[in-house]
Amino acid sequence: MARLAVWRGLLGAAGLLLALEGVFRYWRRRRPVREALFFPVQLTCTEELLSPGLRCCCPLPHTDSALLRLMRRLLGARSSLELCLFTFSSPPLARAVLLLHRRGVPVRVITDSDYMAASGSQIGALRREGIVVRHSQTSGFMHHKFAVIDKTILITGSMNWTMQAIQVNRENILITDDRACVTAYLEEFERLWEEYDPSTYDFFPEGLEATK
Ligand SMILES: [Zn+2]
Repeated sequence: MARLAVWRGLLGAAGLLLALEGVFRYWRRRRPVREALFFPVQLTCTEELLSPGLRCCCPLPHTDSALLRLMRRLLGARSSLELCLFTFSSPPLARAVLLLHRRGVPVRVITDSDYMAASGSQIGALRREGIVVRHSQTSGFMHHKFAVIDKTILITGSMNWTMQAIQVNRENILITDDRACVTAYLEEFERLWEEYDPSTYDFFPEGLEATK
């Protein structure tokens, strides 16, 4: 009789542990993403992040930084990446995006027509690898600086993806999985994606007509 009670007690404890583990896993899954990053940052090595398994011996510091945290978020993309960036010239961030593209993650990019050909721009490199890029066609800069990962995580803030912004400027980035914010930014992305569809380019704006 006593032995039965002991077994019952053990089974009860095991059940309780399993239930607690389930609650913990649910909590971890449901834990909201809220992260603020601030720049400038000292240049640190990004090789080990871009080449998993590599033990890098370069002279740069191998410490964590806001840039590495941003890159880690990006590299966590599994099903999609939307980028809406005024200027994009940072080589390590471009390598992270290309890595995702090569892994088969669908990547779409919207950028500004004036700045996509600026010195050091990575837009050409992305296009050469097969990433679809659409750009603004109307006056007024396409001045957004945001990204959406897996349609669930928004990255937004003041920072253009340039080495000047990362290493010199005072910049901020907010990372959130707040559903209302993610949805609003995704809708803005889709709206611009359609607006900048090259098949609907207006080559003769402001009332000018093509001569027939
Ligand atoms: Zn290194």
